[in-house]
Amino acid sequence: MLRAEHITKQYSLPDSGHTVFDAVSDVSLELKDGCVSSLVGESGSGKSTLARVLSYIEMPDIGKVFLGDLEVTSCKRKEIRSVRGKVQLVMQNALGSLDPHQSVAAILEEPLQLLFHMKAQDRRCRCLELMDMVRLERSTLSHRPNELSGGQQKRLCIARALATRPQYIIFDESFNGLDVTLKKEILGFLKELHKELQIGFLIITHDLDTAMYMEGAIHVMRRGKIIETVEQPHHFSDFQEPYSQMLVKAVRSKRLALQ
Ligand code: ADP
Ligand code: MG
Repeated sequence: MLRAEHITKQYSLPDSGHTVFDAVSDVSLELKDGCVSSLVGESGSGKSTLARVLSYIEMPDIGKVFLGDLEVTSCKRKEIRSVRGKVQLVMQNALGSLDPHQSVAAILEEPLQLLFHMKAQDRRCRCLELMDMVRLERSTLSHRPNELSGGQQKRLCIARALATRPQYIIFDESFNGLDVTLKKEILGFLKELHKELQIGFLIITHDLDTAMYMEGAIHVMRRGKIIETVEQPHHFSDFQEPYSQMLVKAVRSKRLALQ
């Protein structure tokens, strides 16, 4: 289980000296092992900030994060090392998060060496296994990220996240900017991957349609707070809050526009 308890994260307002505001405000959230859930909200609602806190890239100002029984927020650096890679964050900008000078093989083998100190031969074996898992063609092994298609870059980011054998993967708007067909293909693939591996997935998106498609619990975030959680959404009418209904409307008009 990955659990956030009463998380508040503050930043300074730009050009305001020391005035701070809550990017995330008293948020509690529980992600169950092996389950898919989604976090939905408009831009600026605090989703990425919460994602960084959940993946212990940033510490909250108030509140606790637990991974299983371990309170990550009270861990010393050395202890955090023991859970490194257990919660992985896959960002929106695939190309920007990949070293342009490294080959696909080097990108996938690096965490294997750093985290597991694997020997060269074992690393290569695992690298091929990871590529197979995300259906990345072996012919791309020596390619640099910019020689891959958009879809292949996303798959590489997912493979790199899988390399550390995570308990959870948080996908932060990871599928934005893809055309509709490719997005559908990747989301479908993610569902299959989830069935196969039973890793906890948190899908972060501004698009309620994407969250509905992934089928798990949906948490709606607005202005730093989770305003509604629907554990098993089947219909748009399962959402009660006026703000959630506004997100529903956005989906309906987008669907109409695509017809
Ligand atoms: P979302 O991912 O939902 O778009 P973010 O978590 O990125 O939202 O941002 C929430 C708010 O916090 C925004 O107002 C954003 O400008 C601000 N913010 C995010 N990161 C920082 C930062 N490192 N420094 C200052 N302000 C930040
Ligand atoms: Mg964001």
